[in-house]
Amino acid sequence: MDKTYDHRLESKIYALWENAHAFEPQGDGEPYSILLPPPNANASLHAGHAMYVIEDILVRWKRMQGYKTVWIPGTDHAGYESQYVYEKHLAKQGKSRFDFDRETLYNDIFTFVRENSGLIEDQLKKLGFSLDWSRKTFMLDSHVVETVYKTFEKLAQDGLIYRDHYIVNYCPKCGTTFADLEVTYKDQQDPMYYIQYGPFVIATVRPETMYGDTAIAVHPADPRYSAWIGKSVEVEGPLGPTTLPIIADDEIDMAFGTGVMKVTPAHDPHDFALAKKHHLPVISVINTRGKIELSAVSNLSNTNARAETTSTVQNLSTADARKKVVEYYKEKGLLVKIDEKYTHRVAVCYKSGHLIEPLVLPNWFIKMKPLAEPAINAVRTGKVKFFPTRFESQYYEWLGKFIDWPISRQTVWGIRIPVWYSTTENPDLAITYLSKTGERITGTAQELLATTSLEEIAKGLQQLRAPITAKYVISSTKPSDEYLPETDTFDTWFSSGQWPLTTLKYPEGEDFKTFYPTAVLDTMWDILFFWVARMIMLGLYMTGEVPFKTVYLHSMVTDEKGQKMSKSKGNVINPIEIVDQFGADALRISLVAGSTPGNPIAMSREKVKGYRNFSNKLWNIARFFIMQQEKGLEESGDSSAIVETSAQIIEKTNTLITSVTKNLDRFRFSDAALELYDFIWNDFANTALEQAKEFMHQKETFEVFFETYLTCLKLLHPFMPFVTESIWQELGTAKLIDRTLLIQTAWPTQKRAKMIK
Ligand SMILES: [Zn+2]
Repeated sequence: MDKTYDHRLESKIYALWENAHAFEPQGDGEPYSILLPPPNANASLHAGHAMYVIEDILVRWKRMQGYKTVWIPGTDHAGYESQYVYEKHLAKQGKSRFDFDRETLYNDIFTFVRENSGLIEDQLKKLGFSLDWSRKTFMLDSHVVETVYKTFEKLAQDGLIYRDHYIVNYCPKCGTTFADLEVTYKDQQDPMYYIQYGPFVIATVRPETMYGDTAIAVHPADPRYSAWIGKSVEVEGPLGPTTLPIIADDEIDMAFGTGVMKVTPAHDPHDFALAKKHHLPVISVINTRGKIELSAVSNLSNTNARAETTSTVQNLSTADARKKVVEYYKEKGLLVKIDEKYTHRVAVCYKSGHLIEPLVLPNWFIKMKPLAEPAINAVRTGKVKFFPTRFESQYYEWLGKFIDWPISRQTVWGIRIPVWYSTTENPDLAITYLSKTGERITGTAQELLATTSLEEIAKGLQQLRAPITAKYVISSTKPSDEYLPETDTFDTWFSSGQWPLTTLKYPEGEDFKTFYPTAVLDTMWDILFFWVARMIMLGLYMTGEVPFKTVYLHSMVTDEKGQKMSKSKGNVINPIEIVDQFGADALRISLVAGSTPGNPIAMSREKVKGYRNFSNKLWNIARFFIMQQEKGLEESGDSSAIVETSAQIIEKTNTLITSVTKNLDRFRFSDAALELYDFIWNDFANTALEQAKEFMHQKETFEVFFETYLTCLKLLHPFMPFVTESIWQELGTAKLIDRTLLIQTAWPTQKRAKMIK
């Protein structure tokens, strides 16, 4: 046995486990399963991933307890984030997504992601995670897509899918929507106009959107306006007098302008959210070309005078329309003042530099109430338990809002919504495609089909936008020649929300039958709503059973000073560097000891270093036993003092077994880790072993102490798997124990003190 423990041998130990198929479920015990929250396929490991050590502790412990245990890994396609990375890569070659048809772009991203995957898998292995790699799942595997399609079909059959407008970031120049992630912002100076609007003065930089106003909003606690709340007022709109309701909402900033806000749901994301909350109409006044289009408004206000005003702004650019509206209020004497030097942040297209226009476009929605109610009940009735319990109230609050879920994304990289539109039944489908000569062409189906074959359009298809009223067919394959596919993909949370179904191969898979519902879902609290709640809803909806019995919300990993890690702050710690320097075991236990669920835990080099010394301590105890055995053991020997010490250590070990097991049962990982550390270092090594040293040549004494040490290795194994297994193998080589794998040994139970004569 080497003099010191060398953590660089960890990879050999991992291979030993893998070759023994030790991570695959064994035996006929009660099933116990955990699903790893899927990291992005082309990502690399970050500090947060290291917290999944909680899951490894649980599965290693349950495996040793004789459960039929499995921990299933997988990776996410990460929708827009991956597409974004790929587009940056394209930009380096002077290209963009607009140079490709949809199918080609998808295939290219697929290849790119595949070429850049695998790193995270190696890194998870470096952390010692006992994941069953034979069961790994990728979010775009065909069986995953199949399940996602089935769920969508069932939702549609049950009337839970509908189409409606949703606000998106739209670039009129590029003719496409952008994800929040890729919108860039810049500060810009624009005039702020103060306009007399009924009894109020409102402040706006975009008077041209006033055609689409559907309410006036104030803060509920603003004393200036409290008497108006719930009433309606007549205001001078840009098309003449109109009546608007006055609503109150906490989100209104009392200090901004006059504290009164116009609500223009179709052209501002905040106003859109307000409209959904307060059930206001959404009236679009700017079209996808960035021009004023008042068809929706003129339908509402059908007088000659209005029609006349309407025609003067129809089809103007937003900038020109703004001038017209300002002129209108000036003439009416309603323009109170102009702040010429108002600076604000505007959203800009990263590609063209054009201003992003928030627009409402057709989208797919899921009705939430029928899904959320059973999910709320599941937690209320204890079918799903939260650790810590304080997160339950957040869960109820989010789900209880019943805000319908917009599930379509205008991206290529994802699972395409399995919907098809007949071009003959829907002549007004808005289509963008690449022609044979590579030219980007946009138009309605009717316009384009007058000159182009449907085959050419289908081949070069980039984007299709169907009106809300369009007729469609849900199908995983093309229904017939005259159909074009929906080009929107599912929100990534829609597919990852089915992770327990897809990884276990619902409904016919053996794993589904054995392991559903899974035991514990462990993740960070920040995706409680996005992911955890969605899995509970969709799991219950498809199977009638919850997908997991316990939700454990682990700590957020911070830097040594307790600051959130971020690239911009430059305080990001790469966990793999720490592993290379001090070993995975030391990192693992340092993230567990002293952490409480839901609260931050600092990743500190000093702390990790301290636990590296603990590995050495463990190693030295093993060397002591091996050397003692080499010196030879004597059969007899009787000393009342040592009998007492032995009895004490057996007693203490029994207490330790009970306590560690109980703490693990209650998800008190820190308590379990700390008591193990304290017992091994202080009670065992520094005290009992010191006291008994001179009697250790006696076989009886040696056996008692050695047995205690083996118990410690077993109890510590889930926390520090590499060093404990390395020692186990060394003890096997020294013939102190039979050659087995520690990972496969049984969890210790209490020993009686009968070993003492
Ligand atoms: Zn653009």
